[in-house]
Amino acid sequence: MAHENYIAGEWRPSETGNTTESRNPADTSEVVGEIAESNESDATAAIDAAVEAQEAWASTPGPERGAILRKTGSLLAERKEEVTETLVREEGKTWSEASGEVQRAIDIFHYYAGKAADMGGEVKQSSSPDTSLYVRKEPVGAVSVITPWNYPIAIPAWKIAPALATGNTVAFKPATTTGITAVRLVECFEDAGLPGGVLNMVTGPGSAVGNTLASDDRVDGVSFTGSATVGDIVYQNAAENQTRTLLEMGGKNPTVVCSDADLDESVDIVASGAFGVTGQACTACSRAIVHEDVYDEFVERLTDRAASIEVGPGIDDPGMGPQNSEGELSGTLEYIETGVDEGATLETGGGRPDGDGLDDGYFVEPTVFSDVESDMTIAQEEIFGPVVAVIPVSGFDEAVEVANGVEQGLSASVVTNDLNKAHRFVDEVDAGVVKTNEKTTGLELHVPFGGMKASSSETYREQGDEGLAFYTISKTVYMN
Ligand code: NAP
Repeated sequence: MAHENYIAGEWRPSETGNTTESRNPADTSEVVGEIAESNESDATAAIDAAVEAQEAWASTPGPERGAILRKTGSLLAERKEEVTETLVREEGKTWSEASGEVQRAIDIFHYYAGKAADMGGEVKQSSSPDTSLYVRKEPVGAVSVITPWNYPIAIPAWKIAPALATGNTVAFKPATTTGITAVRLVECFEDAGLPGGVLNMVTGPGSAVGNTLASDDRVDGVSFTGSATVGDIVYQNAAENQTRTLLEMGGKNPTVVCSDADLDESVDIVASGAFGVTGQACTACSRAIVHEDVYDEFVERLTDRAASIEVGPGIDDPGMGPQNSEGELSGTLEYIETGVDEGATLETGGGRPDGDGLDDGYFVEPTVFSDVESDMTIAQEEIFGPVVAVIPVSGFDEAVEVANGVEQGLSASVVTNDLNKAHRFVDEVDAGVVKTNEKTTGLELHVPFGGMKASSSETYREQGDEGLAFYTISKTVYMN
């Protein structure tokens, strides 16, 4: 049976009656399940329910809201194995990567469960002695949450948990290729006793469901993660109603390898950042910017490393799983062709791997390009696949200039033993996350996450205490 939408506390079929199959990207003959292919009126029904439920949820004491989030996290922990398997079969991650992602979602629910008891706010001194002056934080209202497929449980968790903790209600649209993982998450909320209407989920095409969730004037905030192209549409739609937006989009994340860097460590850092989760992370390292003194040696070692990665179905927990969809795979293969056409040297990879059953899925080889110039397409555009462009530079200033010479600014790292260079990199690089001697991917959940330039709307951050700001508004109170 197809999975239905979850609206006002009940599972409902979509108005269209149509469904969409979710297939295993490691073996496309396997149907993982079916989800509702909803339309605009299903999305409107989800917003109706969120608006209707908002006042009562906001009046529910924070500790009670927190207890439901905690229970949701605990149920997810009990179901971790089953949810991990769904995620592997639907998104394509390796078992270790998927299990780590589910654990992150559990931790996020427990983290924001604690925050629900403390909405923030401040007590101030008034110049009038008879007045107590304070700032209280209130929920913004009913919010829309629109999420991508590449972290299909952690990203919904890091938006929905702070929204609910602070008394907002949610209309949620997960990515179409990972709708069943989202259903598993919503089931945990339902079983944890979340009142009807507080979280509503509608699956279906972005052009219908996502558009409606972003443009309905009763929505008080739209939290979106995905591509820059769609982020722009969401922004335009929300702006018509002056609705606040939180937009997290793509990256073209550099790792700078200085001449003094330990090369084994540099290769570990670049390879894990570039090929982990099949390069399908917004913070994936897609550019290695390497000093010319160590360039040839670095390219040789990185090429060996990439060629040794075992590619296969995520369920077997290999070194790297498939891409998520046919569109993602063909996009990556097109970028590889462009790289060759523009004159970069293909060192390894570049095509579909040979191997038993690998033709049945969206597999691509880990790919390394050398002799890349910073203005080539593969050095400028987000590929969102396991492809790394290695760019030679003659010094640190040039490395920073190349690192900053793209539209995006999400994550960046530098490998060096020189503390001065490390500090200068932190000062000078345009990125919301900067790391020294570490891969560009991965961030702890209690620190703010977001990008600069075209990677992010920059007004708000996700995660940690700052992750609450988007979902709250200050009210200044003079109590005389
Ligand atoms: P996407 O194509 O932009 O889709 C993101 C979400 O928007 C999906 O739920 C999609 O629905 C929906 N959508 C599509 N068209 C829409 C419209 N007109 N109005 C409203 N919503 C619409 O992105 P993706 O391919 O899923 O994800 C990959 C991208 O996300 C990459 O660029 C990556 O860098 C970025 N990302 C960024 C971060 C970050 O925190 N900065 C984290 C993860 C991923 P359908 O699935 O139905 O099309």
